[in-house]
Amino acid sequence: MARVFSGIQPSGELHIGNYLGAVQNWVKLQSQHDCLFSVVDLHAITQAYEVATLPHRTLEMAVGLLAAGLDPARCILFVQSHVPEHTELNWLLNTVTPLGELERQTQFKDKAQRQESVPAGLLNYPVLQAADVLLYVATLVPVGEDQLQHLELMREIARRWNARFGTGGGFQFPEPQALLSTAKRVLGLDGHAKMSKSLGNTISLFDPPETIWGKLRPAATDPARVTRKDPGNPDICNIFTIHQGFSPPDTQTQVAHNCRTAGWGCLDCKRVLADNMIATLGPIRERAQELRSHPERVREVLRSGAAKARTIARGTMAEVRRRMGFLDAEER
Ligand code: ATP
Ligand code: MG
Repeated sequence: MARVFSGIQPSGELHIGNYLGAVQNWVKLQSQHDCLFSVVDLHAITQAYEVATLPHRTLEMAVGLLAAGLDPARCILFVQSHVPEHTELNWLLNTVTPLGELERQTQFKDKAQRQESVPAGLLNYPVLQAADVLLYVATLVPVGEDQLQHLELMREIARRWNARFGTGGGFQFPEPQALLSTAKRVLGLDGHAKMSKSLGNTISLFDPPETIWGKLRPAATDPARVTRKDPGNPDICNIFTIHQGFSPPDTQTQVAHNCRTAGWGCLDCKRVLADNMIATLGPIRERAQELRSHPERVREVLRSGAAKARTIARGTMAEVRRRMGFLDAEER
């Protein structure tokens, strides 16, 4: 059994890109591996945010994850800031992270471009991410494609720390591998940028049927399909990517065929998708509604998750501090 870690920012509403790229995989993995999943609030403060709504958004993200199928009996679900070792390890790893690599990260460049003043926290975002995963010596990280570059840097950070502090046998950090899904990169509804909480180009996991259809109907498809008679290429169509997450395999085959042969129009294709999405998302929306009426249950899941996560985190930090040469504190 491998150790799995992944996180999601409470930076907006859980959307189908998050679900297909990551969360759907988390739900599968929890019955196969030793999994930790976190609502990463410390990451979410690297972009402009509203202080007053952060607690609600954090709880709401936990609600969404539970509604999507995470089961606290099978995985550890917790809020990142509830385990202070994340920030401690972040600092320590900062000292072995090459600045040039941070400046090269595509996500940093994209997000920095959208901010007037760029905080150092945005640059160091991938170091905190390395700390998140390495704290639990996790080897598998189920994420969307946009995180591959961060995972590569994470391995570099682990190697550098190991080379400097992990010699002589005993403790070493593993080099975590990404685990991708089929729909690893869902584009936003305009078909350009990736679907992102912070870009407002999303279909939320909680959108009711009429909103799903309202957003899907005008959504971008393969631009080659100018008229109904023009054949398209499903491999470059965002709607087909989404089909791969929500429609059964035989439907996917039929969708690809009808697209390539212009057997139907994009609107027909979208209608089938909408029906399949509604069938999957309806029960998730209902479970979320039920959980929202029992916030104390969600709080309890998060409390107990943080306690379990912290036990593992403390063990790693004791080893890391010793290896980095810090004088033992009397009490911790
Ligand atoms: P933000 O815009 O604030 O960065 P986000 O929508 O990118 O939010 P994150 O919390 O950064 O969401 O990422 C959570 C997980 O969802 C990560 O594993 C990420 O790779 C995955 N993910 C995010 N967007 C997509 C997408 N469009 N397609 C596939 N996976 C995605
Ligand atoms: Mg993101």
